Amino acid sequence: MLKSCGRKLLLSLVGSMFTCLLVLMSLGAARPAGQGAPGLRSFADYFGRLSRARREMPAAPPSPPRPPAEDISPRDVFIAVKTTKKFHKARLELLLDTWISRNRDMTFIFTDGEDEELKKQARNVINTNCSAAHSRQALSCKMAVEYDKFIESGRKWFCHVDDDNYVNVRTLVKLLSSYPHTQDIYIGKPSLDRPIQATERISENKMHPVHFWFATGGAGFCISRGLALKMSPWASGGHFMSTAEKIRLPDDCTIGYIIESVLGVKLIRSNLFHSHLENLHQVPKTEIHKQVTLSYGMFENKRNSIHMKGAFSVEEDPSRFRSVHCLLYPDTPWCPANVVY
Ligand code: UDP
Ligand code: MN
Repeated sequence: MLKSCGRKLLLSLVGSMFTCLLVLMSLGAARPAGQGAPGLRSFADYFGRLSRARREMPAAPPSPPRPPAEDISPRDVFIAVKTTKKFHKARLELLLDTWISRNRDMTFIFTDGEDEELKKQARNVINTNCSAAHSRQALSCKMAVEYDKFIESGRKWFCHVDDDNYVNVRTLVKLLSSYPHTQDIYIGKPSLDRPIQATERISENKMHPVHFWFATGGAGFCISRGLALKMSPWASGGHFMSTAEKIRLPDDCTIGYIIESVLGVKLIRSNLFHSHLENLHQVPKTEIHKQVTLSYGMFENKRNSIHMKGAFSVEEDPSRFRSVHCLLYPDTPWCPANVVY
Protein backbone atom coordinates (compact mmCIF):
# COMPACT_ATOMS: atom_id res chain seq x y z
CA MET A 1 0.00 0.00 0.00
CA LEU A 2 2.93 2.37 -0.41
CA LYS A 3 2.22 5.27 -2.68
CA SER A 4 4.49 7.90 -4.18
CA CYS A 5 7.11 9.62 -2.10
CA GLY A 6 5.04 12.76 -1.48
CA ARG A 7 1.98 10.70 -0.70
CA LYS A 8 4.04 8.67 1.72
CA LEU A 9 4.94 11.74 3.71
CA LEU A 10 1.30 12.69 3.96
CA LEU A 11 0.47 9.19 5.06
CA SER A 12 3.07 9.47 7.74
CA LEU A 13 0.82 12.05 9.39
CA VAL A 14 -1.45 9.19 10.28
CA GLY A 15 1.59 7.38 11.54
CA SER A 16 0.08 4.05 10.74
CA MET A 17 2.67 2.41 8.60
CA PHE A 18 5.91 0.79 9.45
CA THR A 19 7.72 2.07 6.36
CA CYS A 20 6.60 5.60 7.17
CA LEU A 21 8.15 5.08 10.55
CA LEU A 22 11.39 4.30 8.79
CA VAL A 23 11.27 7.65 7.04
CA LEU A 24 10.55 9.33 10.34
CA MET A 25 13.49 7.53 11.88
CA SER A 26 15.74 8.48 9.03
CA LEU A 27 14.61 12.09 9.41
CA GLY A 28 15.46 11.95 13.07
CA ALA A 29 18.83 10.50 12.26
CA ALA A 30 19.45 13.09 9.59
CA ARG A 31 18.68 16.16 11.73
CA PRO A 32 21.65 17.18 13.82
CA ALA A 33 21.02 17.43 17.55
CA GLY A 34 19.74 20.83 18.61
CA GLN A 35 18.55 21.70 15.13
CA GLY A 36 15.12 20.14 15.36
CA ALA A 37 12.17 22.41 14.69
CA PRO A 38 11.49 24.34 17.92
CA GLY A 39 8.55 23.37 20.09
CA LEU A 40 7.83 20.08 18.38
CA ARG A 41 7.32 17.10 20.63
CA SER A 42 7.32 14.24 18.17
CA PHE A 43 7.96 13.27 14.60
CA ALA A 44 4.22 13.32 14.04
CA ASP A 45 4.26 16.99 15.08
CA TYR A 46 7.14 17.58 12.77
CA PHE A 47 5.30 16.09 9.85
CA GLY A 48 2.09 17.82 10.81
CA ARG A 49 3.83 21.17 10.56
CA LEU A 50 5.70 20.08 7.47
CA SER A 51 2.63 19.25 5.47
CA ARG A 52 0.54 22.14 6.84
CA ALA A 53 3.29 24.51 5.86
CA ARG A 54 3.19 22.98 2.45
CA ARG A 55 -0.52 23.48 2.09
CA GLU A 56 -0.27 27.07 3.27
CA MET A 57 2.51 27.84 0.85
CA PRO A 58 1.46 30.62 -1.54
CA ALA A 59 1.23 29.50 -5.14
CA ALA A 60 4.53 30.07 -6.92
CA PRO A 61 4.40 32.88 -9.47
CA PRO A 62 4.08 31.62 -13.03
CA SER A 63 7.41 31.10 -14.74
CA PRO A 64 7.98 33.46 -17.67
CA PRO A 65 7.91 31.77 -21.08
CA ARG A 66 11.36 30.66 -22.21
CA PRO A 67 12.65 31.00 -25.76
CA PRO A 68 12.91 27.71 -27.68
CA ALA A 69 16.29 25.98 -27.44
CA GLU A 70 15.58 23.16 -29.82
CA ASP A 71 12.95 22.24 -32.37
CA ILE A 72 11.40 18.98 -31.14
CA SER A 73 8.32 17.06 -32.20
CA PRO A 74 6.02 14.82 -30.14
CA ARG A 75 7.92 11.81 -31.51
CA ASP A 76 11.02 12.94 -29.61
CA VAL A 77 9.20 12.46 -26.31
CA PHE A 78 8.65 9.14 -24.52
CA ILE A 79 5.73 9.35 -22.11
CA ALA A 80 5.59 6.43 -19.68
CA VAL A 81 2.19 5.89 -18.07
CA LYS A 82 2.34 3.76 -14.94
CA THR A 83 -0.70 1.59 -14.36
CA THR A 84 -1.82 -1.71 -12.89
CA LYS A 85 -4.25 -4.32 -14.20
CA LYS A 86 -7.10 -3.32 -11.91
CA PHE A 87 -7.02 0.21 -13.35
CA HIS A 88 -7.11 -0.74 -17.04
CA LYS A 89 -10.86 -0.20 -17.18
CA ALA A 90 -11.30 2.21 -14.27
CA ARG A 91 -8.61 4.71 -15.30
CA LEU A 92 -6.83 3.92 -18.56
CA GLU A 93 -9.91 3.92 -20.76
CA LEU A 94 -10.48 7.56 -19.92
CA LEU A 95 -6.90 8.39 -20.94
CA LEU A 96 -7.17 6.34 -24.13
CA ASP A 97 -10.36 8.20 -25.04
CA THR A 98 -8.80 11.57 -24.31
CA TRP A 99 -5.15 12.64 -24.44
CA ILE A 100 -3.61 9.32 -25.50
CA SER A 101 -5.95 9.14 -28.53
CA ARG A 102 -4.10 12.14 -29.96
CA ASN A 103 -0.62 10.94 -29.00
CA ARG A 104 -0.46 7.20 -29.56
CA ASP A 105 3.12 7.01 -30.78
CA MET A 106 4.66 8.81 -27.85
CA THR A 107 2.75 7.02 -25.11
CA PHE A 108 3.98 3.78 -23.52
CA ILE A 109 1.78 2.03 -20.98
CA PHE A 110 3.59 0.12 -18.24
CA THR A 111 1.42 -2.40 -16.50
CA ASP A 112 1.59 -5.67 -14.60
CA GLY A 113 -0.92 -7.98 -16.27
CA GLU A 114 -1.83 -9.24 -19.75
CA ASP A 115 -4.90 -7.63 -21.32
CA GLU A 116 -5.73 -8.42 -24.96
CA GLU A 117 -8.41 -5.70 -25.05
CA LEU A 118 -5.92 -3.07 -23.96
CA LYS A 119 -3.41 -4.16 -26.59
CA LYS A 120 -6.06 -3.58 -29.25
CA GLN A 121 -6.81 -0.10 -27.97
CA ALA A 122 -3.28 1.15 -27.28
CA ARG A 123 -0.22 1.03 -29.48
CA ASN A 124 2.55 0.48 -26.91
CA VAL A 125 1.66 -1.70 -23.94
CA ILE A 126 4.52 -3.09 -21.88
CA ASN A 127 3.94 -5.85 -19.39
CA THR A 128 6.67 -5.24 -16.83
CA ASN A 129 6.06 -8.59 -15.11
CA CYS A 130 6.46 -6.62 -11.87
CA SER A 131 4.26 -7.60 -8.97
CA ALA A 132 0.79 -6.02 -8.96
CA ALA A 133 1.19 -5.11 -5.30
CA HIS A 134 1.34 -1.45 -4.43
CA SER A 135 4.61 -1.96 -2.62
CA ARG A 136 7.72 0.17 -2.79
CA GLN A 137 9.54 -2.64 -4.57
CA ALA A 138 6.79 -3.26 -7.12
CA LEU A 139 6.60 0.43 -8.03
CA SER A 140 10.39 0.69 -8.29
CA CYS A 141 10.36 -2.37 -10.51
CA LYS A 142 8.01 -0.56 -12.93
CA MET A 143 10.11 2.61 -12.91
CA ALA A 144 13.20 0.52 -13.69
CA VAL A 145 11.49 -0.97 -16.76
CA GLU A 146 10.27 2.50 -17.84
CA TYR A 147 13.84 3.77 -17.67
CA ASP A 148 15.30 0.85 -19.64
CA LYS A 149 12.62 1.09 -22.36
CA PHE A 150 13.25 4.81 -22.70
CA ILE A 151 16.99 4.32 -23.15
CA GLU A 152 16.25 1.63 -25.73
CA SER A 153 13.87 3.96 -27.61
CA GLY A 154 16.59 6.49 -28.44
CA ARG A 155 14.16 9.38 -27.83
CA LYS A 156 15.22 12.80 -26.52
CA TRP A 157 12.98 13.14 -23.47
CA PHE A 158 11.65 10.77 -20.84
CA CYS A 159 8.45 11.78 -19.05
CA HIS A 160 6.72 9.73 -16.40
CA VAL A 161 3.04 10.11 -15.44
CA ASP A 162 0.50 8.16 -13.41
CA ASP A 163 -2.74 6.78 -14.84
CA ASP A 164 -4.70 9.60 -13.16
CA ASN A 165 -2.85 12.32 -15.09
CA TYR A 166 -4.06 14.22 -18.14
CA VAL A 167 -1.11 15.30 -20.32
CA ASN A 168 -1.42 18.35 -22.52
CA VAL A 169 1.13 17.23 -25.07
CA ARG A 170 1.23 20.56 -26.91
CA THR A 171 2.35 22.45 -23.80
CA LEU A 172 4.64 19.59 -22.75
CA VAL A 173 6.48 19.67 -26.08
CA LYS A 174 6.67 23.47 -25.90
CA LEU A 175 8.13 23.33 -22.39
CA LEU A 176 10.71 20.68 -23.28
CA SER A 177 11.75 22.48 -26.46
CA SER A 178 12.95 25.36 -24.30
CA TYR A 179 15.77 23.13 -22.98
CA PRO A 180 18.49 21.26 -24.88
CA HIS A 181 17.94 17.51 -24.47
CA THR A 182 21.70 16.91 -24.37
CA GLN A 183 22.05 18.92 -21.15
CA ASP A 184 21.14 17.76 -17.64
CA ILE A 185 17.45 18.58 -17.24
CA TYR A 186 15.09 17.21 -14.54
CA ILE A 187 11.82 19.08 -14.41
CA GLY A 188 8.66 18.65 -12.34
CA LYS A 189 6.87 19.73 -9.21
CA PRO A 190 8.44 19.20 -5.79
CA SER A 191 5.93 17.67 -3.43
CA LEU A 192 7.37 19.26 -0.29
CA ASP A 193 8.47 22.77 0.58
CA ARG A 194 11.90 21.58 1.67
CA PRO A 195 14.28 18.83 0.64
CA ILE A 196 13.50 15.34 1.86
CA GLN A 197 16.01 14.02 4.39
CA ALA A 198 16.89 10.37 4.31
CA THR A 199 19.71 8.01 5.06
CA GLU A 200 21.58 6.06 2.47
CA ARG A 201 23.04 2.72 3.35
CA ILE A 202 26.72 2.72 2.48
CA SER A 203 27.63 -0.69 3.85
CA GLU A 204 26.20 -3.35 6.15
CA ASN A 205 26.16 -1.07 9.19
CA LYS A 206 27.15 2.31 7.84
CA MET A 207 24.42 4.90 7.14
CA HIS A 208 24.88 8.38 5.76
CA PRO A 209 22.38 11.30 5.92
CA VAL A 210 21.34 12.81 2.60
CA HIS A 211 18.87 15.49 1.59
CA PHE A 212 17.58 16.25 -1.85
CA TRP A 213 14.59 17.58 -3.77
CA PHE A 214 12.49 15.26 -5.87
CA ALA A 215 9.64 15.75 -8.34
CA THR A 216 6.46 14.04 -7.19
CA GLY A 217 5.57 11.14 -9.48
CA GLY A 218 1.85 11.85 -9.17
CA ALA A 219 2.27 15.16 -11.02
CA GLY A 220 4.57 13.74 -13.68
CA PHE A 221 8.14 14.75 -14.41
CA CYS A 222 10.61 14.75 -17.31
CA ILE A 223 14.29 13.96 -17.74
CA SER A 224 16.50 14.83 -20.71
CA ARG A 225 18.34 12.06 -22.52
CA GLY A 226 21.67 13.64 -21.60
CA LEU A 227 20.86 13.30 -17.91
CA ALA A 228 19.20 9.89 -18.26
CA LEU A 229 22.38 8.47 -19.76
CA LYS A 230 24.41 9.74 -16.80
CA MET A 231 21.95 8.01 -14.46
CA SER A 232 22.66 4.65 -16.03
CA PRO A 233 25.06 3.20 -13.40
CA TRP A 234 22.35 3.72 -10.73
CA ALA A 235 19.24 3.24 -12.86
CA SER A 236 19.74 0.72 -15.67
CA GLY A 237 19.19 -3.02 -15.54
CA GLY A 238 18.77 -4.12 -11.95
CA HIS A 239 20.55 -1.06 -10.57
CA PHE A 240 17.44 1.06 -10.00
CA MET A 241 16.03 -1.53 -7.62
CA SER A 242 19.25 -1.73 -5.63
CA THR A 243 19.54 2.07 -5.48
CA ALA A 244 15.94 2.25 -4.20
CA GLU A 245 16.85 -0.33 -1.55
CA LYS A 246 19.84 1.75 -0.47
CA ILE A 247 17.61 4.64 0.61
CA ARG A 248 14.42 2.63 1.17
CA LEU A 249 12.21 5.24 -0.43
CA PRO A 250 9.68 5.00 -3.29
CA ASP A 251 10.45 5.26 -7.00
CA ASP A 252 10.00 9.03 -7.45
CA CYS A 253 12.25 9.75 -4.46
CA THR A 254 14.85 7.37 -5.85
CA ILE A 255 14.89 9.31 -9.13
CA GLY A 256 15.45 12.54 -7.14
CA TYR A 257 18.17 10.86 -5.10
CA ILE A 258 20.11 9.70 -8.18
CA ILE A 259 19.82 13.08 -9.89
CA GLU A 260 20.34 15.49 -6.99
CA SER A 261 22.36 13.55 -4.43
CA VAL A 262 24.46 11.32 -6.64
CA LEU A 263 24.86 13.41 -9.79
CA GLY A 264 24.52 16.88 -8.23
CA VAL A 265 21.98 18.12 -10.79
CA LYS A 266 19.19 20.39 -9.49
CA LEU A 267 15.49 19.83 -10.04
CA ILE A 268 13.90 22.58 -12.15
CA ARG A 269 10.59 23.44 -10.52
CA SER A 270 7.58 23.88 -12.70
CA ASN A 271 4.13 24.81 -11.52
CA LEU A 272 2.62 23.48 -14.73
CA PHE A 273 2.59 19.90 -13.37
CA HIS A 274 -0.28 18.94 -11.06
CA SER A 275 -1.10 15.99 -8.83
CA HIS A 276 -4.29 15.38 -6.85
CA LEU A 277 -2.38 16.05 -3.64
CA GLU A 278 -2.79 19.76 -4.22
CA ASN A 279 -6.05 21.69 -4.41
CA LEU A 280 -6.90 21.44 -8.11
CA HIS A 281 -9.71 23.97 -7.71
CA GLN A 282 -6.95 26.57 -7.57
CA VAL A 283 -6.02 26.11 -11.23
CA PRO A 284 -7.81 29.09 -12.83
CA LYS A 285 -10.19 28.24 -15.63
CA THR A 286 -8.43 30.64 -17.96
CA GLU A 287 -5.10 28.89 -17.33
CA ILE A 288 -6.17 25.26 -17.86
CA HIS A 289 -4.93 25.14 -21.45
CA LYS A 290 -1.47 26.30 -20.32
CA GLN A 291 -0.87 23.44 -17.85
CA VAL A 292 1.30 20.46 -18.74
CA THR A 293 -0.34 17.83 -16.51
CA LEU A 294 -3.59 17.69 -14.55
CA SER A 295 -4.98 15.07 -12.23
CA TYR A 296 -8.02 14.01 -10.22
CA GLY A 297 -8.58 11.92 -7.13
CA MET A 298 -8.70 12.32 -3.40
CA PHE A 299 -7.17 15.10 -1.31
CA GLU A 300 -7.72 15.36 2.43
CA ASN A 301 -10.56 12.84 2.16
CA LYS A 302 -12.41 14.96 -0.39
CA ARG A 303 -12.83 14.55 -4.11
CA ASN A 304 -10.39 16.74 -5.95
CA SER A 305 -10.55 17.76 -9.61
CA ILE A 306 -10.19 20.70 -11.95
CA HIS A 307 -12.98 23.21 -11.51
CA MET A 308 -14.50 24.08 -14.85
CA LYS A 309 -17.90 24.30 -16.48
CA GLY A 310 -16.95 22.63 -19.75
CA ALA A 311 -18.74 20.34 -22.13
CA PHE A 312 -19.91 17.75 -19.58
CA SER A 313 -21.44 17.92 -16.13
CA VAL A 314 -19.53 16.77 -13.05
CA GLU A 315 -21.83 13.71 -12.92
CA GLU A 316 -21.01 12.77 -16.52
CA ASP A 317 -17.33 13.64 -16.20
CA PRO A 318 -16.14 13.55 -12.57
CA SER A 319 -12.42 13.69 -13.46
CA ARG A 320 -13.15 16.70 -15.75
CA PHE A 321 -10.71 15.13 -18.23
CA ARG A 322 -13.36 14.83 -20.97
CA SER A 323 -14.27 18.48 -20.57
CA VAL A 324 -10.60 19.50 -20.58
CA HIS A 325 -10.08 17.40 -23.70
CA CYS A 326 -12.95 19.14 -25.50
CA LEU A 327 -11.49 22.49 -24.51
CA LEU A 328 -8.13 21.54 -26.03
CA TYR A 329 -9.41 19.54 -29.01
CA PRO A 330 -12.90 20.85 -29.84
CA ASP A 331 -12.90 18.91 -33.14
CA THR A 332 -13.12 15.58 -31.24
CA PRO A 333 -16.18 13.70 -32.61
CA TRP A 334 -17.73 13.10 -29.17
CA CYS A 335 -17.32 16.71 -28.03
CA PRO A 336 -20.58 18.64 -28.25
CA ALA A 337 -20.53 21.51 -30.70
CA ASN A 338 -21.21 25.11 -29.71
CA VAL A 339 -20.09 24.90 -26.11
CA VAL A 340 -19.04 28.24 -24.69
CA TYR A 341 -16.02 27.75 -22.43
N1 UDP B 1 -0.33 1.64 -9.03
C1 UDP B 1 0.38 0.48 -9.34
N2 UDP B 1 0.15 -0.64 -8.62
C2 UDP B 1 -0.77 -0.67 -7.62
C3 UDP B 1 -1.49 0.49 -7.30
C4 UDP B 1 -1.23 1.64 -8.03
O1 UDP B 1 1.19 0.50 -10.26
O2 UDP B 1 -0.92 -1.72 -6.99
C5 UDP B 1 -0.08 2.85 -9.81
C6 UDP B 1 -1.35 3.50 -10.29
O3 UDP B 1 -1.79 2.92 -11.48
C7 UDP B 1 -0.91 4.95 -10.44
C8 UDP B 1 0.14 5.11 -9.34
O4 UDP B 1 0.56 3.80 -8.99
O5 UDP B 1 -0.32 5.19 -11.69
C9 UDP B 1 -0.40 5.80 -8.11
O6 UDP B 1 -1.53 5.13 -7.65
P1 UDP B 1 -2.78 5.89 -7.00
O7 UDP B 1 -3.18 7.03 -7.89
O8 UDP B 1 -3.84 4.87 -6.74
O9 UDP B 1 -2.19 6.39 -5.64
P2 UDP B 1 -1.78 7.82 -5.09
O10 UDP B 1 -1.89 8.83 -6.18
O11 UDP B 1 -2.75 8.08 -4.02
O12 UDP B 1 -0.37 7.65 -4.64
MN1 MN C 1 -3.10 9.08 -7.76
